[in-house]
Amino acid sequence: MTGSSLAGWGLTAPTVAEVKVPACLSEVGGHLRSAGERGLAVRGLGRSYGDAAQNAGGTVVDMTGVDGVGPIADDGTLTVQGGVSLDTLLRRVVPQGWFVSVSPGTRQVTVGGAIACDVHGKNHHRDGSWGDHVKSFRLLTGDGQIREVGPQGPDPELYRATVGGMGLTGVILEATIALVAVPSSRLLVDTDRTPDLDTTLDRLIDGEAHHRYSVAWIDSTASGRHLGRSIITQGDFAPADALAEGDDPHQFRPWSGPAAPPAPGGLLNRHTIRAFNEAWFRRAPIARHDELQSISTFFHPLDGVDRWNRLYGPRGMVQWQMVVPDSGTQVVGMAMERLVAAGAPSFLSVVKRFGAGDIGPLSFPTSGWTLAVDLPARTHGLPDVLDHLDEVVAEVGGRIYLAKDSRLHPQLLPVMYPRLGELVAVRDRVDPEGRIRTDLGRRLGLC
Ligand SMILES: Cc1cc2nc3c(=O)[nH]c(=O)nc-3n(C[C@H](O)[C@H](O)[C@H](O)COP(=O)(O)OP(=O)(O)OC[C@H]3O[C@@H](n4cnc5c(N)ncnc54)[C@H](O)[C@@H]3O)c2cc1C
Repeated sequence: MTGSSLAGWGLTAPTVAEVKVPACLSEVGGHLRSAGERGLAVRGLGRSYGDAAQNAGGTVVDMTGVDGVGPIADDGTLTVQGGVSLDTLLRRVVPQGWFVSVSPGTRQVTVGGAIACDVHGKNHHRDGSWGDHVKSFRLLTGDGQIREVGPQGPDPELYRATVGGMGLTGVILEATIALVAVPSSRLLVDTDRTPDLDTTLDRLIDGEAHHRYSVAWIDSTASGRHLGRSIITQGDFAPADALAEGDDPHQFRPWSGPAAPPAPGGLLNRHTIRAFNEAWFRRAPIARHDELQSISTFFHPLDGVDRWNRLYGPRGMVQWQMVVPDSGTQVVGMAMERLVAAGAPSFLSVVKRFGAGDIGPLSFPTSGWTLAVDLPARTHGLPDVLDHLDEVVAEVGGRIYLAKDSRLHPQLLPVMYPRLGELVAVRDRVDPEGRIRTDLGRRLGLC
């Protein structure tokens, strides 16, 4: 087979597959029928970090060519094709006074990818995850049928297995989603520096009651009494009268700069990451309130540098993201301590609070604390440190986010996701021959 090498955003585990790029939805079924015994995987914009959108030796259908957007109904619902990116969608809907109900930290994800990973944003404590705002979708399942699926029916089991199901139940062809009306395209943002982890977590809890959007960036190099010192940003969409006179309240012109250059030796290493963390923390104001920020500054700052993942060099990066229930809060500090002690500083470390979750058997968000860290893959001893942390997370009833994963051991999966049997039952029903497959699914014993 001649094919293309595909990797996730972390660039850690490339594999070769035959890539098909349908120009319209009706072509997708043909690619499923002609896929060989290694089956077919679905891919959006490849922003999952690990091997979720890869299929070594098989077929990968790249959905980014099917990106139609329907009209917005009065109640803010609209139907879009599975390959449309949030970037395209926002350019269409923000000038009309609407925003996506949940935005991840980048616009460069597709609607299909957002549903398949049940993506969360800075407002999970208020609004839940992507799956909470999907009215219905059309799914091409492995048996070749196109099924209409919704949370209240038809086929709510298939709906739940697909939301967060990592593309293992079929191809999301089209989805009807709910947008949220916004008074302007700017946010009023409070920024506060905190001296330690306890203060960070307390401030995030306090902020929940007052702000729709809330997140903490943690200085991953601080230790001892400074462990967990952070910059907290919390915000809400600004009323139109908070803008300067004459300002178009729904203007949306996201800025994007040049692409990051290839860095054969890797520009991000423990020394540059340490220097960045220190400078970033000191540069933030101790407290600044009601600052007007654009959607792209507040939600998608990383999109300003295209292909920034290349700064880690050819060996790439590992993102480790976990969530623990409140009873396991101590694991947040313990994980930060272990990473500092292992000499594994993270370029970007984020803590957020999740509200109620658990939409589907493989959906990541669940009530508690989530911590995400970005680590150079070549960090000495990293696999052992992360294996140990996975076990600690599982012991306290937490889990790892599969959209970021490239290395979890399969025996921990049913401990972290105890409803896994629901996914297996649905797959057996709609894909009895196991035609939908991914590298992640094979690694974790799911297909
Ligand atoms: C800078 C950055 C910031 C991020 N921030 C966040 C964040 O704040 N919150 C968060 O939750 N995630 C975040 N992510 C992760 C990202 O949102 C998810 O990985 C998302 O799924 C990527 O979408 P994609 O279109 O690139 O999907 P891909 O990476 O291409 O695929 C991801 C999974 O979705 C499946 N899939 C894709 N399209 C379809 C389809 N049409 N039908 C069925 N299955 C499909 C694939 O098979 C695969 O299993 C971030 C990623 C990056 C790079």
